[in-house]
Amino acid sequence: MGGAKQGGDDVAVDPARSELMRRVRDKNTTPERAVRRVAHALGYRFRLHRRDLPGTPDLVFPRLRRAIFVHGCFWHRHEGCARVTTPKTRAAYWREKFQQNVRRDRRNLAALRRLGWSVLVVWECQTFERTELLAKLSRFLDDGGGQPGEGS
Ligand SMILES: [Zn+2]
Repeated sequence: MGGAKQGGDDVAVDPARSELMRRVRDKNTTPERAVRRVAHALGYRFRLHRRDLPGTPDLVFPRLRRAIFVHGCFWHRHEGCARVTTPKTRAAYWREKFQQNVRRDRRNLAALRRLGWSVLVVWECQTFERTELLAKLSRFLDDGGGQPGEGS
């Protein structure tokens, strides 16, 4: 318990920077991370954030032509979900903002499907239960008998 004060220089972190890093890290943890881990556990290869596809899907399975979005319930307005609340202040502003998000999501999904992709939206609240998530993903990725050229 001395008053020794050296040896701690590397602890000093600019608060703005650490805030930024925290946010960056958050982007890669939590729901999306959970989905990735499960997809990986199921043995699938996937790419992340393909910017050349509508809406930049979070996980893309190119050979299967399947894509997954991991959506936060609040921002993307998960219907009927308890996490979907509207801030009391500036309610009109938020409603507008949320509506734009929902519309954009719908547009992106439609555009992807037109391009021949199967799309799954995984909601944040569906990532907490690993078993359920596993079932959901394997249903989505395994179904269709793995015949890519649906032809006929
Ligand atoms: Zn939800």
